[in-house]
Amino acid sequence: MSTCLKCGLPIEGQAETGRPKSYCSVGCRRSAEHEVRRINSLLQKLETDLSNALLGRVWADQVPKIEAEISRQETRLRILLDTDEFEK
Ligand SMILES: [Zn+2]
Repeated sequence: MSTCLKCGLPIEGQAETGRPKSYCSVGCRRSAEHEVRRINSLLQKLETDLSNALLGRVWADQVPKIEAEISRQETRLRILLDTDEFEK
């Protein structure tokens, strides 16, 4: 049985045919959509910070931490978006 990409609970009532569900409920799917938007704006900010740090404008010593955080957020984004339920 597959599990919900948002909350991790098993997904009940999976159809025998057709597209498998990636979220257990409308609430989880919508909540995931909102989380995706939050992660996107966070990534935008982190990428600006990284660029400024690489250019030596600010916190040059923070580059590894910023890169680690970008990688962490992108991993979460990939988990949430590993579905075609958003492509409409
Ligand atoms: Zn769920």
